[in-house]
Amino acid sequence: MATLFEKIIAREIPADIVYEDDLCLAFRDINPQAPVHVLLVPKRPIVNLADAVPGDQQLLGHLLLTAAKVARQLGVGDAFRLNVNNGAGAGQSVFHLHLHILGGRTFAWPPG
Ligand code: AMP
Repeated sequence: MATLFEKIIAREIPADIVYEDDLCLAFRDINPQAPVHVLLVPKRPIVNLADAVPGDQQLLGHLLLTAAKVARQLGVGDAFRLNVNNGAGAGQSVFHLHLHILGGRTFAWPPG
């Protein structure tokens, strides 16, 4: 069954899309945890980072470079946080790999 993010990629569910290219899509999180909170997802579904394989190396690199590009585009390029929740125990609720791009406020370390 298609995940929620596959439905967003297919435009079956609406989303506030801020960036798109051949490999990935970025859209605003529906429950933002910061003034800027965007999810960056590969169009090819990968369950999570632990499920990625060496053949995904180029795609994963592209996601990181694109995250920085999207952060710049949204005005938070100097200070942003990237977060990947891998597995339910780490807070993953949608099982389609995604990077949370958070910015526009200060962030504590260590994270909660
Ligand atoms: P995670 O918990 O890391 O799997 O992140 C899933 C994220 O998807 C959460 O931050 C949710 O707020 C977000 N989310 C759930 N449904 C939607 C939606 N329809 N559009 C945008 N973001 C969503």
